[in-house]
Amino acid sequence: TGLDELDARVSVCRACPRLVRWREQVAHAKRASYADEPYWGRPVPGLGPPDAPILVVGLAPAANGANRTGRLFTGDRSGDWLFASLHRVGLATQGTSVHADDGLELVDTRMVATVRCAPPDNKPTNTERDTCAPWIEAELRLLAEHVRVAVALGGFGWDATLRTYAAIGWQVPRPKPRFGHGAEAVLTDGTRTIMLLGCFHPSQQNTFTGRLTESMLDDVLGRAAALGRT
Ligand code: SF4
Repeated sequence: TGLDELDARVSVCRACPRLVRWREQVAHAKRASYADEPYWGRPVPGLGPPDAPILVVGLAPAANGANRTGRLFTGDRSGDWLFASLHRVGLATQGTSVHADDGLELVDTRMVATVRCAPPDNKPTNTERDTCAPWIEAELRLLAEHVRVAVALGGFGWDATLRTYAAIGWQVPRPKPRFGHGAEAVLTDGTRTIMLLGCFHPSQQNTFTGRLTESMLDDVLGRAAALGRT
């Protein structure tokens, strides 16, 4: 399919010198606890069925998470939270995600990263964000026929989702709707609509401090499941 082709093309992209260096350096050095494991060390494509009605938009792969396993949110603490919640609301076949061959499958859900290579300190520059934008634009175009609801993780994911849909010709509300946990906005291409839902990012910074609880995460993902399946 077009999506398979896109996934294959993005996985060999080298357009951002700083991120190429970082993703490969981390993969070469390896964290001590993963010393015996292979590292992916490349851009991480989207995950989940191509006809999914639910889209989850994240920030970027984690250096020792998806940059190691090659599968989004797999093998890091944010992913532990996210997949556990997706499983509780019926959007994943299991609640843990350890490595790329652990049998986990997303249900009715496609997950994408805004920036596809792991950035130092989880912070891509604006130039890197813009350089990577054509990849998520191409992917959202290919998914557009099926997507009914988009969950944006964090303010970065919220802004990126609005920016990406605007770039591929969708009408997004003006002024730009404010990000918040449970925030909602409607996007339209003139005939179809997508409900955009804001969700605090399940980063350790948010989960350790209690800013994001399991039930808060379940609320937004459960709403996405309900909206996506009607
Ligand atoms: Fe390519 Fe995106 Fe990775 Fe930059 S961040 S090298 S544009 S895949």
